[in-house]
Amino acid sequence: MLIRRLFIVLSAVVCFAVPTAVGATLLVEAESFDDKGGWVVDQQFTDTMGSPYLLAHGLGRLVDDAVTTVTFPSTGTYRVWVRTKNWVEGPWEAPGRFKAAVGGAVLAETFGMKKGWGWQDGGSVTISKKRVEIRLTDLTGFDGRCDAIYFDTDKSAKPLDFDADKPEVNRQWRNKLRGLPTASPDGGKFDVVIVGGGISGCAAALAADEQGLSVALIHDRMLLGGNASSEIRVHTEGIYGQGKDILKKIDTEHYPNGSAYAIKDQQKREKAMKAAGVMMFRPWRAYDVKMKGSKIISVDACSTITGEALRIRSDVFIDCTGDGWIGYWAGAEYRYGRESKKEFGEAWDKHSELWSPEKADNRIMGSSLLWNSSKESVKSTFPEVPWAVDVAKNKSAVAGEWYWEYSDNDKHAIDDAEEIRDHMLRAIYGSFYNAKKNDKNAYHKLKWVGYLSGKRESRRLIGDYIYTQKDAMSGTKFDDAVVEETRAIDVHYQQTLKGSPQDFLSKALYRKVPRYYIPFRCLYSKNVDNLMMAGRCFSCSHVGLGGPRVMLTCGQMGIATGYAASLCKKYCTNPRGVYKSHITELKGFVSNKPANDN
Ligand SMILES: Cc1cc2nc3c(=O)[nH]c(=O)nc-3n(C[C@H](O)[C@H](O)[C@H](O)COP(=O)(O)OP(=O)(O)OC[C@H]3O[C@@H](n4cnc5c(N)ncnc54)[C@H](O)[C@@H]3O)c2cc1C
Repeated sequence: MLIRRLFIVLSAVVCFAVPTAVGATLLVEAESFDDKGGWVVDQQFTDTMGSPYLLAHGLGRLVDDAVTTVTFPSTGTYRVWVRTKNWVEGPWEAPGRFKAAVGGAVLAETFGMKKGWGWQDGGSVTISKKRVEIRLTDLTGFDGRCDAIYFDTDKSAKPLDFDADKPEVNRQWRNKLRGLPTASPDGGKFDVVIVGGGISGCAAALAADEQGLSVALIHDRMLLGGNASSEIRVHTEGIYGQGKDILKKIDTEHYPNGSAYAIKDQQKREKAMKAAGVMMFRPWRAYDVKMKGSKIISVDACSTITGEALRIRSDVFIDCTGDGWIGYWAGAEYRYGRESKKEFGEAWDKHSELWSPEKADNRIMGSSLLWNSSKESVKSTFPEVPWAVDVAKNKSAVAGEWYWEYSDNDKHAIDDAEEIRDHMLRAIYGSFYNAKKNDKNAYHKLKWVGYLSGKRESRRLIGDYIYTQKDAMSGTKFDDAVVEETRAIDVHYQQTLKGSPQDFLSKALYRKVPRYYIPFRCLYSKNVDNLMMAGRCFSCSHVGLGGPRVMLTCGQMGIATGYAASLCKKYCTNPRGVYKSHITELKGFVSNKPANDN
């Protein structure tokens, strides 16, 4: 009996010890820290680097520590790994350095030193009680980044590296460690699911809501408005068409791009969206779709803070992500880059290759960060930034407008998005550093620099019709026209193509047009049955995008798709069915008010 009792006690000890013997682990996602201090959550590059992360965006001034308290599975000695990146490699000190402290003990290793995203070895820590504080301390004020911290009692174990071709493996690994379900729970069924809360997505949601639909809006930031948000600060342009009632609730005044007036318009937009009956999933990022044949059944999305995921179902989806993500995952036909001038007859001899190339290429309009500085009452200095001057060259500036823009034939707007954003950060810091060398700028201090890329162009989803320059120039009044605009075609090229030493500045080429119209056939996918798209990912050529990419036009597209979703429900049909059988009714929705240009 005694032997039997002893055996039971021993078994219990062995069982309890097993997790430690094979490696007790803890994954702490930086974006889920309780107190983020002065660090900000950056979710933009999740699809290419694996996760939202914390960014020390201090404009050269140290940001406050990010702090959280975690519970270890057991006490003991753990090996620590920190997932981070040296965001500008070169013959200088890494600009984004930071320290990590575990239970008050600062790790010897300095982080932000690793080439490319990956796990940097942080040595070992001894955990003597299970509840422990973790702290991240910025050392530079220049955009240090921390994705996650991983602890393992198995000193030979290495955390998983992210493979962009197998994002599901990374997701499952993280979910398991965070105690989240491996399959997304049901998030409910809605009459329409809209992904992307820029002006197009907000307008689509308000139109669908007005028609009494149950609407889910999935947006990966807390603030709505996309490029018009107070986080990016582009003012809305274009005409209201017949959408003034809705668009006035979410648009902006015509202040200079980058102005803090965007904050006031943000409040207006948030109030209007809150007043509508839209179910908002934010900050939630869509990451996949489930298909049945050529129909989307559901969108998978997860919180960019907690990682909690849901599967959100509908019969109709509207892609307003700008990057055409929903279409991309659903296998929708799409285009990227410039068409040859012959394909749609889009030549303009006056500007030749700068407007439209002989041979199709990968050039698109670029991404921007807006920024400004203020004149203070005391003088200030700006740190040495050799890694930034390397990009800025001899450019000297104290603010930047829309033409601070970067793109390149060899850089992909999505795959290389982080590098593109970082190039703009370097351009800004380097140009400001140069400006500060001049006495007249001694009182200038960096006030605001965006860190969310304002994108102009990436994937364009293909519909039953592709909108081109010819349609804009001829002002064709399509039978299924649901959007109208008067704004000139406005296509950008990089100044470097004309010999400028700065590769981050662009020029705009404008081509006058009469009032022009966009057909509904450009707003639904050619090959995914129940997918519509609105905004800069609508069905068009590169030059065709040049005019209607402004936000009031994008908003009109949103309104048309939101109303079309209500007809899909009413007639139990899909968007093409609306075009074929109910286009008069759809046009009635958008044209029952007089066109209103201002
Ligand atoms: C510097 C600059 C200056 C410009 N100047 C003007 C101007 O003066 N006036 C004007 O009207 N237009 C201007 N434009 C163009 C205009 O801003 C864009 O064409 C327009 O924002 C496109 O709107 P959108 O709703 O399609 O996309 P966006 O504004 O890009 O919004 C899409 C939103 O979807 C979210 N999202 C993306 N993927 C996901 C996902 N997987 N899950 C959840 N959410 C997601 C993003 O966070 C984003 O906020 C400018 C653009 C730039 C960059």
